[in-house]
Formats: sequence, structure tokens, C-alpha cells
Amino acid sequence: QRQQQISKELLKQGSYINGNWLQHTDTFDVINPANQQLLAKVAIAGANEAQQAVLAADNAFTGWAAKPAAERAQLLQSWYQLVMQHQDDLARLLTLEQGKPLSEAKGEIAYGASYLQWFAEEAKRLYGDTIPAPSNDKRIIVQRQPVGVVAAITPWNFPNAMLARKAAAALAAGCTFVVKPAQQTPLSALALAELAHQAGIPAGVFNVVVGTDAKAIGEVFTGHAKVAKFSFTGSTAVGKQLAKQCADSVKRVTLELGGNAPFIVFDDADLDAAVQGLMAAKFRNAGQTCVCANRILVQRGVYQAFADKLAIAVTQLNVADGLAAGSQIGPLIDGKAVEKVAKLLQSALDDGAKVLLGGKTHSAGKQFFQPTLLSDVSADMAISNEEIFGPVAPLMAFDTEAEAIALANSTEYGLAAYFYSRDIGRVFRVAQALQFGMVGINEGIVSNAAAPFGGIKQSGYGREGSKYGLDDYTNLKYLCLGGL
Ligand code: ADP
Repeated sequence: QRQQQISKELLKQGSYINGNWLQHTDTFDVINPANQQLLAKVAIAGANEAQQAVLAADNAFTGWAAKPAAERAQLLQSWYQLVMQHQDDLARLLTLEQGKPLSEAKGEIAYGASYLQWFAEEAKRLYGDTIPAPSNDKRIIVQRQPVGVVAAITPWNFPNAMLARKAAAALAAGCTFVVKPAQQTPLSALALAELAHQAGIPAGVFNVVVGTDAKAIGEVFTGHAKVAKFSFTGSTAVGKQLAKQCADSVKRVTLELGGNAPFIVFDDADLDAAVQGLMAAKFRNAGQTCVCANRILVQRGVYQAFADKLAIAVTQLNVADGLAAGSQIGPLIDGKAVEKVAKLLQSALDDGAKVLLGGKTHSAGKQFFQPTLLSDVSADMAISNEEIFGPVAPLMAFDTEAEAIALANSTEYGLAAYFYSRDIGRVFRVAQALQFGMVGINEGIVSNAAAPFGGIKQSGYGREGSKYGLDDYTNLKYLCLGGL
């Protein structure tokens, strides 16, 4: 019965290495977070397979890098088209293993594919530079070259898009690529590999290693001499560890880590727009994104009015299995995630916060959590300092603009921030003062392929997407032509 739910063509059950599908009997279970049913049994790969994948990527590198940019672009374009042709099946697979509502899953497939398309175009624009030399007998030429083999580790909250946006940039630049997706969500990554295969991406250029021993695979990716660059999206704790491991062989590193996004509503804001923006910035993916609003700071004069409007919107959220028609909030990824949200919530209540709405697990199933509104939250509570990663919106009051900025910046994280104001002076002052890599101004969704995604402080470094997105995958080479 479970097989009927999933397109056979896209259901792959083992790693994709050097153009081949790994098969063996030692498997791990992929579980639907909405109902804990078994979706698939996937062959376990470990350190050996990770090494094979790195060697395959290394073998493929010279040929891939030597292809004319237009050819790499054409292959990425074919991959993009295949992903869009299979959008519905890929979305269904994503919802089954990850839980998010099907409408959001479709959105993620299109969003992930948009990076394949974007970098297919950017592949052709890997421009260099010529620089006036200090004397007439010399010429200075700067070229961009692919760094080499890229190894990546990706998380479960966007199992398609987090992988696609790294792979697209790497392949466009002329790098070859090896990735380990999160254990909870390997199927979306393997389906992407199937479509890369169909698109004609040569063997060894794109490899997916799926397994249960993240540490062992991570050690190969961060330690192997043939890996030139490591790219990670996940928690700050794991990212720090992996960056340390990369230091031994001086690999280039991109880290996209946790966030603690402030969402500030000033007294001159359009409150209806702010509510709409917050609903998207907080409750998308049941609150499980690294750019989710984590602290909602509301100026005292509009605090009550905003809370009232927000409560109406939150009450209307439809919590259900992501495949059910009209579902807006799916399950959390696993039991551990539910426990973490419940624990943060309880500690906020112990410290004086009040529940306006929700506050408990939801009757839709044991991994569903009620959309929750908290008031009287303060900056010293654990919930204001840790990523909630669940559908809980904590409201905190402030009085002045300076206070809002200080509160917003008082975190070790610096990924996304949001604020709502219609005062043009304030818009520029606050945008300037916020210490974050991305700022949504009167906007709750900031990410798209044309814009640079990434953080500062302990949210990481490097940028994904945009014209800057190839920088992380290329080395500058300076040629000095003398004797003229
Ligand atoms: P999350 O909270 O999103 O699960 P993690 O940082 O734990 O964040 O996971 C992100 C990715 O990092 C996943 O693919 C996971 O398997 C991987 N991972 C977790 N721990 C390690 C580790 N010690 N070494 C390598 N990869 C790891």
C-alpha cells in the first residue's frame, strides 16, 4: 500500500555513487512523521561509500570542469526541467517523508528548481577581470576556477531545496559534488539524483550518500584530501564541529546555521500586513525553518491590537496531515522535536509567560503541535535565546526604537530579521542597525534564487543564490604576464 502512494520512478532506496545505485540488505527505515508509518527501507551507506563517492567526484572533476560553460548550463537546465515536470510527485514524496503541507512542498520543489535554473544561467557568466598593471611591461589577468570536489551535508527541513541550491552552484562553477542528506529525509535527495541521471549529468559529478552514521560520513567529507570545499546547512553546534574538522586540511567552508530571527512591529506599522507577514515567517513548515520568526517584538502602543489580530489568524490555521486537503500545519519531524518545543514552552511558562492560544500537542497525531501564541515573554527566557523550531509565537513588548534594536541584536545569531514600519526614516535607521545577513522590511518571506541567502555571527558564513553564489565555489587565479 505504501508503494502506491509514491511514484515508482522516483522512489530510490540506496545511495547514488558514480552513476550507480547502491543496493544491499542492511537498511534503515524512513518514517512518515504524520502517522509513523514506514515509507521505505533504504540501504545504509557509511564511511566506505562516502570515500567511494569522493573518489568518483574527484575522477569526474577534470572532465566536468573542462566542459564549456554552455554545456554545463544545458545539463543544469535539463535537470531543472525534469524537476518541474515531476513537481507533483516530488512534492508528494517530500510531504510523506518530511510532513509539510503539500502546497508548501510544491512550493519547495519550485523554489529548489529555481536555483538549478538560476545557476544554469550564471554558469555562463563566470567572468574574470583585467587590472591595470603598475608598469607597462606587465598585464594582470584574474580568472575564476572551480575549487574542485565539494562535499555537503544538508538538513531535513528543506530536503529538496537545501540540496538543490548547493549542488546547482557547485556544478555551475565546474565543481563535482557529494552530499549526505539528513537521515530523516533521504528520499527527496535520491529522487533528485534520479532526475540528475535522466538529465544526463555525467557519472561522478553528482553523488548522494545516504546512511545513519552522520559522524562517520562527516569525517570523510571534512577530512578527505580530495575534498576542496565543505558546505553545511544545519545546527550551529554541529556546524562548529565540522568547521573544526575542516581546519586540519584547510578546506574552504560555507556554513548556514541556526537563527533567532526577531520580528519587530513598530507602532506605525500596517498591522494587517504585519500579521500576514508573521503568519508566513512563523508558521511556514510548522515553524521549522532557520529563518522563522523566533522573537516577536511589538511596540507597546499596538501590542494589544496586534495580539488580537494575530490570535484570529492563528485560530484559523488548519492542522492536519500534510497530504490532507487544506492542511496548513503538518507534524513536527520527530518525537524529539515535539519534546524540545514542549520543553521550551514549559520553561517560558515557568518564567512568567502566558498562553493566549494553543500550548499543547494536537489531536491530529502524536507529532502535531497546536499553533501557539504566548504573551509576556521576556528577553532572558530560554525561548528567546534558542531556536524554537515549532509553531510557537512568543510576543514581547517594547517601548522605543532603540530598545527594539538592542533586543533584536542581543543574540549570538545573525541570520534573518524582519520589521514592519511605514516611517521611511525609521525603515533606513533600523535596516542599518540590525546585525543580520537578511532583513525583511514589511515582508515575511525573503528567500529567492536572485538574492544572497546567508548569515553573520554564529549563523555562519558564505552566501547561497544570487550573483554572489558562485564565489564560494570558485578560486581567483591571478596571472601576471610579463616581459611585454
Ligand atoms: P537538525 O537539528 O536540523 O537535525 P543537525 O545539525 O543535527 O540539525 O543536522 C543537520 C545535518 O547534519 C544532518 O544531515 C545530520 O545528519 C548531520 N549531522 C548531525 N551530526 C553530525 C556529525 N557529528 N557529523 C556530521 N554530520 C552530522
